[in-house]
Amino acid sequence: MVEIKNPLYNTAAPSTQSIHADGHLHATPDVASSISVSTTFEYNKKDIAANNYGLDQRYVYARSGTPTITKVEATLSTLAEGHAVVFGSGLTAAFAVLVEQRPKKIALGNGYFGIKNVVEQYQRLVPGVQIVGLDCSYSGVDLVWLESPINPNGEVRDISSYALRAHAAGAVLVVDSTLAPPPLSYPFRQGADIVVHSATKFLGGHSDLLAGVVVTRAQKPAESMRAARSVLGTGPGSLDVWLLLRSLRTLSVRVSNQSQTATRLVAFLENHRRLAVVTDCHSPSAQELAIGRRIAAVRHASLQLCATHCSFIETQHPSGFAPVFSIRFATSAQALFVARHLQLHTFATSLGSVESLVDWRHGVDPKEDPCLLRISVGLESFDDLASDWTKTLLALDAHEKSSAKL
Ligand SMILES: *Cc1c(COP(=O)(O)O)cnc(C)c1O
Repeated sequence: MVEIKNPLYNTAAPSTQSIHADGHLHATPDVASSISVSTTFEYNKKDIAANNYGLDQRYVYARSGTPTITKVEATLSTLAEGHAVVFGSGLTAAFAVLVEQRPKKIALGNGYFGIKNVVEQYQRLVPGVQIVGLDCSYSGVDLVWLESPINPNGEVRDISSYALRAHAAGAVLVVDSTLAPPPLSYPFRQGADIVVHSATKFLGGHSDLLAGVVVTRAQKPAESMRAARSVLGTGPGSLDVWLLLRSLRTLSVRVSNQSQTATRLVAFLENHRRLAVVTDCHSPSAQELAIGRRIAAVRHASLQLCATHCSFIETQHPSGFAPVFSIRFATSAQALFVARHLQLHTFATSLGSVESLVDWRHGVDPKEDPCLLRISVGLESFDDLASDWTKTLLALDAHEKSSAKL
C-alpha cells in the first residue's frame, strides 16, 4: 500500500499544504516536479534476482499508478482531509463511487446534469435501482448524492442536516463539492462520507486538463477504488495529472481571490438591480435605470435567503463562497445578447478557470431556465469585470429601447 498522507502537514494552512504536502515523495533533486510520460518502469535488480517481477515495486505500469498520481493524491488527501483517488474526469470519479458503493436506492438532488447521466448509466448496469428526490423520505435509501454549492447558482445546501438524515437511514452521504474546493469548504466537517470534485474546474483552474477526484473519509473505499482504477485504466493521463499537480500549488490563492471578486461582483449587480427599482425612498436616475432595469434576478450564496436559519452557510464556507453565480433576464434573447457582448467573460461552458466564463446553461441542459446565465469568475480585477458588466448592460438597454421603437 502506498503511503500518501504526510501527517506533518495536517495542521498547516491550505496554501502551505498545497505546496509541501507531497514533499516526502520527491525522488530527485528537481524542485519542480518533472513531466514524466513513461507508461512503464524498470524492474529493480533485486526483484529480478528473486524472480519477483515488480511485485514489491511501487511503480510497474502506468495503468496501476505513476509517481505524479501519487503526488497529486498526497496533496489532495491533505488539503481535502481524507483519502484522495484521482480519475480521468469528474464523471468517471462519480461513476467509480456508484460502482464501489453499489446503492439500491439513491436520493438525488438538483445540480450538474451530467451526474444524472452517470446515474442512468449505473441503472443500466444494475437493474431495479430506485431514485428519489433529495427531500423525500430516506426509507430504504442507501446513498444520498448532494451537490453543494449547487450548479448553476453557487447557492449552498445544509450538509449537516442531510448528513443527519442520511446516517439515520443508514445511508452514505456523497457531496459534490466541485464549486467550492478547499479552502472554501470542507464537507467532512459537516458529516459527508465521500466528497467528489471535477478537477477539470477549480482544482485544475486553467481550462487545460480533464480530471476528477474522489475523497473518502475512511481508507478502505479509497483503496478499493484505486484497485478498480488500476484494472480499468480510468485514471488521468500523464500530462493532465502533471498539469493538475502544478495547478494545485496555487489553488488557495486562486480560489480565495476568485471568491472575493465573485462576491463583490454579485453585490455590484444586485445593487444595480435594486437601484433601478422605484421605491418610496428612491427614484432612479436615467443611468441607474439603464444599467439595472434589465436584470431580473441575481443568485449566489452571498444573497441566499433561508427558510429557517442561514448560519450553516457561514459555517460551511469559513473563507468565502463559490466563485460562481447566476443572473437572470426577462427573456432568453436578452440573456444571449449579454453573453455575446461581455468582453472579459468568455462565452463558453465549464467553470473554475483563471478566465471569467459566461454560459447559457439552457444550451447544454434543456431543463435549465433559458433566461439564465451562469458566471464563473476568474482572476481578472474586480474593476475591469464590473466595467465590462456596466458597458454590456448599457448596450442591452440601448438595444431594447431601439428594438421597442421599431
Ligand atoms: C463539471 C462538473 C462535473 C463533471 O466533471 P467532468 O470533469 O466534466 O467530468 C461534476 N459535477 C459538477 C458540479 C461539475 O461542475
